[in-house]
Formats: sequence, C-alpha cells, structure tokens
Amino acid sequence: MQQGSKEALEAKLQEDELLKLFIDLIAFDTRADFTSQDKPSSIGQLRLGAYLLNRLADLKLKPVQTKEGVIITKIAASSGYENAEKLCLLAHLDTAPDASGADIKASLVTNYQGKGIELKNGAIIDHALSPELANHIGEDIVVTDGTTLLGGDDKAGIAVLMHLVQGLVDDSIVHGPVTIVFSVDEEIGRSTKYLDLEVLDSDFAVTIDGCERGELDVATFNAEGAKIIFKGKVVHTAIAYGKLKNALKMMADFIKLLPENEAPETTKDDQGFYHVHDAMGNVEHAELMMILRDFEQEGLAQRHHKVEDMVDAINLKYGANSCEAIFVKQYENMGLVLKERPTIVNYCRAAFARAGVALIEKKVRGGTDGSNLSCRGLPCPNIFAGPLNCHGIYECLPVPSLHASYQVTKALVELVALGPKVSTKNDD
Ligand SMILES: [Zn+2]
Repeated sequence: MQQGSKEALEAKLQEDELLKLFIDLIAFDTRADFTSQDKPSSIGQLRLGAYLLNRLADLKLKPVQTKEGVIITKIAASSGYENAEKLCLLAHLDTAPDASGADIKASLVTNYQGKGIELKNGAIIDHALSPELANHIGEDIVVTDGTTLLGGDDKAGIAVLMHLVQGLVDDSIVHGPVTIVFSVDEEIGRSTKYLDLEVLDSDFAVTIDGCERGELDVATFNAEGAKIIFKGKVVHTAIAYGKLKNALKMMADFIKLLPENEAPETTKDDQGFYHVHDAMGNVEHAELMMILRDFEQEGLAQRHHKVEDMVDAINLKYGANSCEAIFVKQYENMGLVLKERPTIVNYCRAAFARAGVALIEKKVRGGTDGSNLSCRGLPCPNIFAGPLNCHGIYECLPVPSLHASYQVTKALVELVALGPKVSTKNDD
C-alpha cells in the first residue's frame, strides 16, 4: 500500500506549471451550500473568483464578473482566424457539498504500483472502491489526507482553462474567438440559471468537468423531480378507530409501489430509475422527495405517469385528496440536441485523436451544465478533467489525466480555429 508524500508533491510542482496552477486553486474552499440563497451560495467562490480575475487581468484580459459571481472572459481570435466559429469553454468554481473543501492537504503518490493507496488518516483507496485506479499504474497521483475532498471537480477544469488562456493570449495556440466561463454553484444545480446565452455569444460550448481520462460525455438523462404530499387526519389514538388516517403509512405504501428493479442501486448503463431521496413528516402531513431519470423522453413520460398512477392508488385506498404529486422539470438529455447539431461533438472527437488520447464516449448517469445549455440552444458536450472518486475524501487526480485534459482542450481550440473542412468530416 502506497502513501502520498508532501515533499514529492513540492518537487513535482517545480517542474509542472499546470499542476502548480491546480494546487494553487484548491487552497480556496469553494464548497457549494444548498441551504444558502446567496449568489453564489458560498463566499469562497467569490474569493477564488477574485483571484482568477486578477490573474486574468495580469494577462491584459478584461474579464467580467456577473452579480452571481460568474466570470466571463472573451478572448479575441488570432489574426486571420476572426471568422472561425465561436467556442465557449466552461468549468465551475464550486466543489460538492458532500465533503469539506477547507484546508485541503494534498500529497503525491509517485509511480503508483497498483496495490491501493493509504491516506494519512488511514482511509484506503483500493481497486474495489475505485476500479479506474487500475488504469493509472505507473502514474503520479495527487491525493488528500482523507479529511477533505481534493477539489479536482472542477478545479482541474479551471486549471486546464487558466493554463490554456496563457497560450491564447500570447497566440502560441492558434484560436478563433473564445469565451472562457467560470460558473458557480454547479454542484447544487444553479449554475446555468446564471448564464445568459446572449452574453456567451458562441456557436457551441464544451464543459471541462470531472470524469476519467478519455471521457467525452455526449448524453445525459432526461430528469424530473417530484414532491409527493400525503395528508393524514389526526384523531386521538383512544378514539381513532375508523377515523385516523396516518400520512406516514401512506408514504410507506407509496414507496412499496415503486418497482424495486428500477432504482439507482439496481440499474446501470442505459437504464432509467426512480429514486426517493428525502422524507419528512408526521401523522398529519408527510412529504417525500424523489427524482425520475430516463435517457428517453418517452421513458421519462412513462415514469411520470407511473407516479401519477401510484398517487391515484393511494387516494383510492385512503380517500380522495389524501395524496398529490408536484413535478418539476430538471433537465433534458443533451444527446438529442447534439445529434441534431453534431459539429462540436465531431470537433471533440477529432481533438481526442489530435491529442493522442483514447476516446471513451459516454452517456452520463447524471446531469451536466451541458444538458441545460444544450437544451437552451447552445450545444455543449463535456470533456474529462481527470479526477477520480469525485465528491468525497477518496477523490484523487492522476497527474497525466490533468495533462491529457489540457492537450485535448488545446487541440479542440486549434481545430475549431482551422474550421470544419480541415478538422472534421461532418457537417452541422
Ligand atoms: Zn463537476
């Protein structure tokens, strides 16, 4: 079992500018807070934002920060490439609420040998927990001390873009018009609400976020949330016979009606699911929060109807108006949009080839900023940034993955500048 070394990390930082950028970024605690109504939800996102604004200004750029904390930087095309298609690249400032992002103590496992990694607090990352680790034998891997997440989701993406910006500004990377966006509160589903497509003014976009090396995400679920409300009737238990209606029992009945083999823990790949994730209540009133997911629109509609039928069944048993469902649309599968407007996906595929990174095209069993942007009219697949086991203390970042993400993103910018005739065989 190997352990990380702080000294090894220090030594590596002397020679690796991109990794140094990343390590500087994780010093900022930018954990998103879904209990806050502030924009952004945590002050750390503004602190990191201020730091990035300064660095961008040092490069003679004129970034703007919106009132929600989003940073948008427009970079003019290299001379002669002004008419190239306009590309928007995004990464997010916040980290997941699931684990602390404060005082991250990173260290480096050098030349990983394949027998697992022991973090400083004794927690272990092995291949049972993280099968992808087997792809990274022989590599240097950044880990935490086991008390925080690492923040590679998505500071790896931000590091890649900040590193890229330097090459765009000094024109060592040929590029058309590029817009760089650092969004806020992606992890709590608020980020794209704060993005104005007219301000982004781009033909297409790519998020650089999360994921194992090689991943190109071109489809996501169609997603809906539902709140199920149960209305009981409180009567003293001494005289409850035939009168009391227990909202908690209604909820239990409702949950029992869910198909057992269509839950997140019993489905994978292309299969959709129902998931109950939060509940509160007493005899009089209970509420159940759930989400519905399906890659097909038709499939999601069927799940919606199924929930309505379950509500009807509860009402039949307990009396009219005992139960109701309130649905909220969450996001749509970006795959449909990307099939209709495939230009950016084709550029991405070509970019992986140009960078020499083996491509794994994937449907993500979750949403991305790209789902929302695509469905609003800005086609937006996602490119890996490299971290593994995101959102918790087992998060780690194989250093070559970070570099591969940079190489693919750089190749993408160059290919978009050269245009579709040179770069890809497909047309939009
Ligand atoms: Zn992310």
